[in-house]
Amino acid sequence: MPAGLEDLFGRERPGEPDEAAGEFRRALVVAAHPDDADFGAAGTAALLARAGWEVRYLVATDGSKGSDDPAIAQPELIAMRAEEQRAAAVILGVGEVRFLGHTDGELVWSHALIGEVVREIREFRPYAVYTHDPEAVIVGNSFVSHSDHRATGLATVDAVYPAARDRLNFPEQVAAGLQPHKVRELYIFGGNESNFSVDITEVIETKIAAMRAHTSQFPPELLERMREYWRDADGRYHEQFRRVIMFI
Ligand SMILES: [Zn+2]
Repeated sequence: MPAGLEDLFGRERPGEPDEAAGEFRRALVVAAHPDDADFGAAGTAALLARAGWEVRYLVATDGSKGSDDPAIAQPELIAMRAEEQRAAAVILGVGEVRFLGHTDGELVWSHALIGEVVREIREFRPYAVYTHDPEAVIVGNSFVSHSDHRATGLATVDAVYPAARDRLNFPEQVAAGLQPHKVRELYIFGGNESNFSVDITEVIETKIAAMRAHTSQFPPELLERMREYWRDADGRYHEQFRRVIMFI
């Protein structure tokens, strides 16, 4: 019997799906590149998995621009990064990783991209969806949010509401047997606003191990510095989200 959310999360914890009403303990993390889901939400994903939730990652691009090494050919890099993402998922207890396979650096918000995310939502039927901030271009006066992050975030928010919910959006999916689906909670990471702080102190080493799996992206010394990014003044580790409880 897995521990409940109240045992694993601190004061701020996600809502409980109403299983009697047909809701599932499932969370979908939609990220632009292989490694983004781990940077933004690996600790939370690990906690949810420990609580018995099914967690799935959906990665929009192939990560094919993520190397400065001229010796690595792009097909090799794509395969390597997919493998790194799958290895990180295993460490966290994330059950499945899916890839939409779009070209890294060239993702644009589109009706077609929304449809791809809607299909995944209607199929997996998550209670909660986690994704990038679609709005922030500059984050914390110290980062430019990658355009792929913004495109992924916006398409995912649009997929959650209203597209996945309404049968007249992407009706060909409904005709093919996928039912509309209402996501109950949306969590945004990587933006300037947060209202929900998950205490990931218990799983920080698991998060770091998952990030270490992305060997093409994070040299060990960088990872040690990055650890500070999640540490608060009180010495505990947190992932910050903007939580939206869907009213309708
Ligand atoms: Zn990214």
